[in-house]
Amino acid sequence: MNKFLELALAGVQQLVPYVPGKPVDELQRELGLSEVVKLASNENPLGTGDKVLAAIQATMPELTRYPDGSGFGLKAALSAKLAVAPSSITLGNGSSEILELVMRTFVSPEHEVVFSQHAFALYPILTQAVGAQARIVPAKNYGHDLQAMLATISDKTRLVFIANPNNPTGTLLASDELESFISALPAHVLCVLDEAYYEFVAPSDRTESLAWPQRYPNLIVTRTFSKAYGLAGLRIGYGISSDDVADLLNRVRQPFNSNMLALAAAEAALTDADYLAKTLAVNNAGMTQLTSAFEDLGLDWIPSSGNFVSVDVKQNALPVYEALLLKGIIVRPVANYEMPQHLRISIGTERENQMFITALKQVLQGV
Ligand SMILES: *Cc1c(COP(=O)(O)O)cnc(C)c1O
Repeated sequence: MNKFLELALAGVQQLVPYVPGKPVDELQRELGLSEVVKLASNENPLGTGDKVLAAIQATMPELTRYPDGSGFGLKAALSAKLAVAPSSITLGNGSSEILELVMRTFVSPEHEVVFSQHAFALYPILTQAVGAQARIVPAKNYGHDLQAMLATISDKTRLVFIANPNNPTGTLLASDELESFISALPAHVLCVLDEAYYEFVAPSDRTESLAWPQRYPNLIVTRTFSKAYGLAGLRIGYGISSDDVADLLNRVRQPFNSNMLALAAAEAALTDADYLAKTLAVNNAGMTQLTSAFEDLGLDWIPSSGNFVSVDVKQNALPVYEALLLKGIIVRPVANYEMPQHLRISIGTERENQMFITALKQVLQGV
């Protein structure tokens, strides 16, 4: 029994920490394996890009200084690329920090927070950490049921989370549906539209969401450099909102929340069109490679707009996950998302995908 349990905030007392994907080093140590393939945290499989590496190296001699707390350079680059004003941008230590800032700025224990069943695991954790009440709306075909979500909103609701595409299901909402939902929200309800996987969405399916905060000032769109831009280890993401909301988030954040290497690397990543194009090409090919294999194995999967896919292994997925681990393949069980028969597979390189497919076949056929 933790001696400090009674002293912790009420929400924190019941809190179960987020479980990250198993690190490669840990599995290698445990099993003495020479090669481990990690397809568990939706990371970019290409490794760090050359432009990013050069920017980091150029920045290293400056590390005795504090970073630019205003993030001037990165905000200017984002502003130019995304056609949004720098004053609408909030930078964060990963986009997770933006989610947390919104929570700490606007949500207190008397409030309710609405999100979907099977939605990203951080939403319930952040809600509980501030002691607010989660209202989890049953999903429709694994995706968000926007009508049911709207019907759940009450006078107590202060925040709605929408993940588009959602993790771990990969489901995507149509742009018009999403906009009608946002336009129907009462003025006292903020909406976080979490677009961590935006870059992976097929161009014809993308929403013009960054223009929306001008029309709907209660909307905060979040994006990240962790996934398509390959900077998960550096921790840098951002929110786009009305200037009024950005002003409040910037009051709450720590003055140096985005570190110097991350700021430089993110700015460089925005200029590396080749890396992004290659990332998307590898992802598209890998998605086909994995889903064809699932089809051969007679397995159903949830069509995904992200860099991962959740597959139904038609049995308790945990023993399958564990058998894959013994073969040096790390994927993600999603029982904590109420999907006990699914495994979420991040798309890797062609070789990594093939190693996973071979291992999955062996495991399912009991070899
Ligand atoms: C990965 C992820 C994030 C945030 O990742 P950061 O590394 O903190 O930017 C946010 N939302 C979803 C749905 C994610 O899968």
